[in-house]
Parts: sequence; C-alpha cells; structure tokens
Amino acid sequence: MPLDSFGREIDYLRISIIDHCNLRCVYCMPLSGLKFSTSGDLLSATELERVARAALAVGFRKFRLTGGEPTLRPDLLEIVERIGRLPGTHDLAMTTNGILLPHLAKRLKTAGLRRVNIHLDTLHPGRLQRVMRFGTLEEIWAGIQAAEAANLTPLKLNVVVTRGYNDEDVVDLAQLTLEHDWSVRFIELMPLGGGECARVALSQYVSNRDTKERIEQSLGPLSLLPDQHPADESLNYRLPKARGIIGMISPVSQPYCGNCNRMRLTADGKFHLCLLNDDELDVRTAIRNGSSDEMIGKTLLRAVGAKPTGHHLERGVSTEDRNMYQLGG
Ligand code: SAM
Ligand code: SF4
Repeated sequence: MPLDSFGREIDYLRISIIDHCNLRCVYCMPLSGLKFSTSGDLLSATELERVARAALAVGFRKFRLTGGEPTLRPDLLEIVERIGRLPGTHDLAMTTNGILLPHLAKRLKTAGLRRVNIHLDTLHPGRLQRVMRFGTLEEIWAGIQAAEAANLTPLKLNVVVTRGYNDEDVVDLAQLTLEHDWSVRFIELMPLGGGECARVALSQYVSNRDTKERIEQSLGPLSLLPDQHPADESLNYRLPKARGIIGMISPVSQPYCGNCNRMRLTADGKFHLCLLNDDELDVRTAIRNGSSDEMIGKTLLRAVGAKPTGHHLERGVSTEDRNMYQLGG
C-alpha cells in the first residue's frame, strides 16, 4: 500500500468525473460565473480506466466517483463497468444528489457499482429549495428509494449543516435512523474557492458539537460505536434503539488529517493532493502524451509523496483555485 511522507497509508482515490451539476447548493456552486470543463478537458472513460488500473497496480484499493454530479455523465455506466471489473478493486462507490437514480440505480448496480452516498440537506421542501436551490425533495427521495431497491447499500446520506438554511432540520434527519438502517452523516461546512460559496461556508458554519447537542436534546443520548475504522472520516454514533447510524464529519472542529487515506483526481485530470489546499499534479498530459500505465502509477506515487500533512483552515488557508463542485468533496 502506498505510504505518504508522513507514513499515512493512501489507498483511496476519489475520482471526479464531471464538474457540471443539476443543483446549485449554496456552499458548493455559485449561480453565476461558472467555468465548466469542455468535454475535451474531461478524462474519457478509457483514460479513467487507465488511471484506476495504474492506481491498483501501486496499491490503491478503493474508488469513489463524484463530481459535480456524476450521474450527468452520459457514459457513467461505461465508466463504472470499466473500473468495477478491474481486478483488485475492493470498493467502488459514488456520491450523488440522487435525482437521476430512479432511471439509473439498477443499471449502475449491474454495471458494478457497490453503493452510493446521497446528498440530502433537509426533509422540508421549502428549505431544500433555499439550500440546494434546484431540484425537489420528492426527486431526491425517489432517488434514495431507487438506491435501496437496487441494493446500492449500505446507504449513506450526506447532510451539510448550514446555519439559517437547514440547521433546524438536523433532528428530523437524525430521526430517519430510527426506522432505516441508513447512515445519516452531518458534515461541517468548509470554505473553498474564495468566492460566494466560501463566504457562505464561513458565515453560516455550525460546529458538529452544536449539531450533536441539538440531536441529543430531542432524541436522547448518542452512543459512540466501538468499531470505528481509523480511516473513516466520520465519528459514528447510534440513537437508543435506532436501526441506522449517525455520523459526524468534522473537518473544521476536529480535523482527521492524521488518518487521511485519500487522493483526489479532478475531472480535468489533475491529482489534487489535499481537499483544502491548491497543490495539484497533472496526469492528463502524461496520459495524452502516451505514458505507460507504469508512468501513470509513478505520477500517482509522486502525488502521494507530496501530500501535505494537514489543512490550515484555522489560519484561513484553503483551496482558492477550485470550488467544491470542481473537487467532489
Ligand atoms: N453532487 C454530488 C453530491 O452533492 O453529493 C457529489 C459532489 S458534492 C461536491 C460531494 C459532497 O460534498 C456532497 O455530498 C456534500 O455533502 C459535500 N459538500 C459540498 N460542498 C461542501 C462544503 N462547502 N463543505 C462541506 N461539504 C460540502
Ligand atoms: Fe451539485 Fe453536489 Fe455541489 Fe450540490 S453539493 S451543487 S449537488 S455538486
């Protein structure tokens, strides 16, 4: 397994396959001034397969497709098939807003996708329109049901807690775990890109300590689960008698950089070394200049070796050049 210069085992590649989206969440994607990659900028399905194969050869084991909204990619099924069939792939998951899953879930499962994380910030239709801006609760809920029916499980729901938008909804969302064996994960806002989304993230930030307290006040004590995986960015809890799990992902108040196991690939073919930092290493040019899989693997190992020790949000340092929709979370 590849080790970075701080001894962390890096075996998880998050692959952004598109930077377009059918929603415009207030903390991720501005309404105007968007600069999308052209189709020629994006890595093709064959190029993505080559990066995944090279990654497996140097010891990577897990992949996640993300975006933007990965389900908007017309060749998504081909991408899943190509990566899913590579020997050595232990996990192939996808993060999505779920809207297109009713049409895709079964076919994705057949193509080799194991599971999905679905982004849902509130169960209140009006507040959903404020925070995710396009799309409806009905559509996302239909996506969740389609994912369950297609066995894209264990199902995880991602909730980004944003003061004044959905912070009063965390109790209802946590309550879903009483009846469903889902993982509902509350994520602290991160400022990326230096623009209006970063300003929302900074001004509307809610600490997961407050979110946890709010949930416990209404629903009872959360018990920390004993079997936490060190590389899991989420601290996992359970409500009394609940079927599902409540996760707290707290990159701002409790950074987990010491256990980071991930590398990111942007849709336009750059290894992005840390979510909250601008350092990148171009792999697309290497691929298009005829590099062998071995050379691609070496580029990835160089990226792993150059990973920074951690983020410096506390000093106001973050990724300036890209917004979250260009990195995939
Ligand atoms: N469109 C898909 C979605 O929304 O799940 C995949 C891409 S999106 C960038 C991946 C995840 O990033 C989302 O599920 C959301 O939880 C998270 N996210 C987006 N912007 C964020 C921000 N500013 N801070 C923290 N998490 C964020
Ligand atoms: Fe789109 Fe996901 Fe960003 Fe929301 S968080 S705007 S769904 S990419």
